[in-house]
Amino acid sequence: MATATEKPAAATTPAPAPAPADPTPLCTTCAHPAPHVYTTYTSKSNIRLGVCTHCGAFIDPLIEAPALLLVLDLVLLKPRVFLHLLFNRGSPPLDASAGAPPGSAASSSSSAAQPPCPYLARVRHDLAALGVATLAADVGVRVLPLLQSPGSFNATLKAVILTVVAAALELLAQHAATLALALAILYARGWYPARKGGSLSSRDGRQRSFVPELVPLVLLYTTLFPLLLQLALSIWYAPPASIHETLLPTAASASVLPERVVAALPAALADSIKAAEDGVVAAWSGANRVWAGTRLLGGMSAGFGLRVLLPTRPWETTSIVIFGWVAALLAAQWLDPLLLG
Ligand SMILES: [Zn+2]
Repeated sequence: MATATEKPAAATTPAPAPAPADPTPLCTTCAHPAPHVYTTYTSKSNIRLGVCTHCGAFIDPLIEAPALLLVLDLVLLKPRVFLHLLFNRGSPPLDASAGAPPGSAASSSSSAAQPPCPYLARVRHDLAALGVATLAADVGVRVLPLLQSPGSFNATLKAVILTVVAAALELLAQHAATLALALAILYARGWYPARKGGSLSSRDGRQRSFVPELVPLVLLYTTLFPLLLQLALSIWYAPPASIHETLLPTAASASVLPERVVAALPAALADSIKAAEDGVVAAWSGANRVWAGTRLLGGMSAGFGLRVLLPTRPWETTSIVIFGWVAALLAAQWLDPLLLG
């Protein structure tokens, strides 16, 4: 399981070394880079939060926050929690008692003296851990109905293994597609890798510390909660037999588009629109609405998380999320006959 979920980062990371040249923490209010989030004095418990030189707010008030507050902020999709989790968590403090002059030398050179590896290693560790957790939650959601229907042990075991493979490949497809489109857009904007000639913004800490692994990581942070919600709902809440089933024939026969518009379209296009609408209605009527709702919630959260991480426009971010969804859907459609057969 671990190897399968680590692939999104490994498989799609471009060949050049992705380590940022100068990973620094950043202000969770304005994303301005900062040399240190906080300063420690003689004892570890004696610390002082750093203040942003750009906006005057505390650089990262969440550095001391308990895990529960971070989870609540994640559920509420607060931008500061994404910036804290992606860039600042685990960043070394400035040690005022270490003898190094806390003035110019420390603030300018100690972040450069820190090798970039710890930052990248931390990001990859988070990516692997969250990937495994997401895969486990996804498999749990899919496997629970199988376990409730009685069957032979071997058949159930085979179904569980196939579910793990399918969920891992869909996750891989979604993350690979999302990352590929995100990197293509960032490359086109000259944001990552930063174009030669010095377009590396000195005011955007996200650009200074960006590594491609952050894209799947922010996606995992935003999709895990809706998945856990779905898992909890599927344990404690059994959706009633759908009342929409009887509405299906009439609903499927009517198109969203006005008849005049449909008549004006070429026959092939009108047919494919009709087929797509029928597919959506069938999926909505036949499938689990809890699943659909949590997926929608996950997609919206993912869009929000990516908007915090990336400098993209809203329509670009939406395209990135939808592209990942389509890739996962295509992978699922491609895998279904293989796994069932
Ligand atoms: Zn600031």
